[in-house]
Amino acid sequence: MSTSAPLPSSPYVAPTDELLLALDVAGLDQLLTLESFAHVDRDTVASVISEFAKLAADVIAPSDRVSDVVGAHYDASTRRVTTPPEFHKAYARYVDGEWGSLPVEMAHGGGGFPSVVTAALQEMFATANISLALNPVLTQGAIEALLQWGTEEQRALYLAKLMTGAWSGTMNLTEPQAGSDLGEIHTMATPRPDGTWAITGTKIFITWGEHDLTDNIIHLVLARTPDAAPGTKGLSLFLVPKVLVNPDGSLGEPNALYAQSIEHKMGIHGSPTCVMQFENATGFLIGPLHAGMKGMFTMMNAARLAIGIQGPAIAERAYQHAYDYAVTREQGRAPGASTTSPIIAHPDVQRMLLLMSTTTIAARCLIFTATANKDRAIHSDGADHERAQQLVDLLTPVAKAWSTDRGVEAASLGIQIFGGMGFIEETGIAQRWRDARIAPIYEGTNGIQAIDLVFRKIPRDNGQWVQELATEIRETLARATEGTLTDDATYVRHALEHLEDTTSWMIDAVSSHGDDALAGATGYLELFGNVVAGWLMIKRALRARELGLADVARYEQESHFFAVEVVTKCGGLVTMIMAGAARLGALRLPA
Ligand SMILES: Cc1cc2nc3c(=O)[nH]c(=O)nc-3n(C[C@H](O)[C@H](O)[C@H](O)COP(=O)(O)OP(=O)(O)OC[C@H]3O[C@@H](n4cnc5c(N)ncnc54)[C@H](O)[C@@H]3O)c2cc1C
Repeated sequence: MSTSAPLPSSPYVAPTDELLLALDVAGLDQLLTLESFAHVDRDTVASVISEFAKLAADVIAPSDRVSDVVGAHYDASTRRVTTPPEFHKAYARYVDGEWGSLPVEMAHGGGGFPSVVTAALQEMFATANISLALNPVLTQGAIEALLQWGTEEQRALYLAKLMTGAWSGTMNLTEPQAGSDLGEIHTMATPRPDGTWAITGTKIFITWGEHDLTDNIIHLVLARTPDAAPGTKGLSLFLVPKVLVNPDGSLGEPNALYAQSIEHKMGIHGSPTCVMQFENATGFLIGPLHAGMKGMFTMMNAARLAIGIQGPAIAERAYQHAYDYAVTREQGRAPGASTTSPIIAHPDVQRMLLLMSTTTIAARCLIFTATANKDRAIHSDGADHERAQQLVDLLTPVAKAWSTDRGVEAASLGIQIFGGMGFIEETGIAQRWRDARIAPIYEGTNGIQAIDLVFRKIPRDNGQWVQELATEIRETLARATEGTLTDDATYVRHALEHLEDTTSWMIDAVSSHGDDALAGATGYLELFGNVVAGWLMIKRALRARELGLADVARYEQESHFFAVEVVTKCGGLVTMIMAGAARLGALRLPA
């Protein structure tokens, strides 16, 4: 990273109409009929989105290039991390607006909005500056963990400050020997006579583990208590503040913890990724002893959807940047042109731009659909609750992995559209790819998401929830009876049949020949994502027509492009998945 003055960030215009339409596709209207959201209507949601869009475009987005070129800095003598002044300005505006409290229930002093509305804001924040956006993502996870597992006293002490963003939260899972396998966590929590715990250990890769934006940082730490069972069953969750908080809420003594260093990374330079040392730090148990994974899963599931959003978020910025370049850069003659054409006129450049824009839209609809089900699961009961809970569980790994993989692809296409200039840092498009590349890795790698989908999610009730989803998809397809949507429905119907066949095959493989299921899990997740995305693109086109949106043909054309370009690939995926572990065969490398 150079310290020379950075060039301006590429402009960002938040796609507010698209965000609202994606919320519609996800079922915003039905959500707002629930009692918990009686005080929210569509107009309020629209004005919240448009208000945040201004903040994102005018205040946050200009800090994005500084994030890449200057980034966060660590001072070994003080063990402090500093962030650029532009971050302070943008973050202060976020705190002043109390945006963080929007999804928290009104009983706890929040705005009581559906979290899917927050997902729209999270997308805009991440498109504007992904590094800075990570800070509130983790804080939001800490809030959810406290709401679900904290005591009254803990909520009273920490919640309000976390909600406004006056304090931030972190998630401390990873250790040098414990990445995907959290059962290897060594950090110890030893009980003290006063009921607190002494936390000792080293955590690595902790996002925003230390920084200068807030005067306290609330770490949620997974640790092992003495005599606990080995593996994940022996883990408990602890709240470990950077600065201890007095009973009246004022700040007390610094806790015995610090950042030992920050990582030098290929992207998200503005997000400090810290090695954290806990040296007999004072911790407070959150939730029951040895139920740490449950508490952490509350955070992780929230964070998985929020990280999924980074896919369309980065893709959107890359698309806007690449589009601006493609209309100004002239090269060659497009078919039928008599003079030099802007590169956007070339069919292959059109293809790349459309692939970027349609996968962005589809990924957005997918994540919002998963998040709307989460809202429904929390705010309804009985059969409605059960159905929504199963669907969000099923869709979360797909939303996280499919969307972040598409984000990397879109960022790469953005570079391709810039040609040689895409490889030159001056244009700023390379930042998109470097920033996007982490999303398939953190919050559980995409490979681990695929294994979760195949081994934990689809076998539930013998595949019943995939069938429930398939029924819902078929209901939409039955309504797609006009124009190109009819063809799109045919493509998605075929792909859905492939998904049903491979699901049965997978469930069988999980119980009888797990190797095959493991070898095909990533392909299966891609197939699953393609089908759901194709469905949502059709649903979006139908919704645009119901709403009487101008230029309704555009939504249908986008659905058609996506169905032809992406959904039709599902057949090839089936062949690959069902080839099982045998296709690794003799090529299998020695362990
Ligand atoms: C920038 C950044 C920020 C991060 N922020 C945080 C944070 O805030 N808090 C936190 O706790 N952690 C954080 N992490 C850690 C992150 O979640 C882990 O890096 C991630 O979970 C993968 O763990 P690992 O790096 O040890 O990779 P490994 O677990 O070593 O995996 C390496 C490869 O092997 C594969 N693999 C591993 N196990 C299996 C298996 N059983 N089956 C099939 N494939 C497998 C993986 O998919 C991957 O491709 C962050 C990491 C980075 C780089």
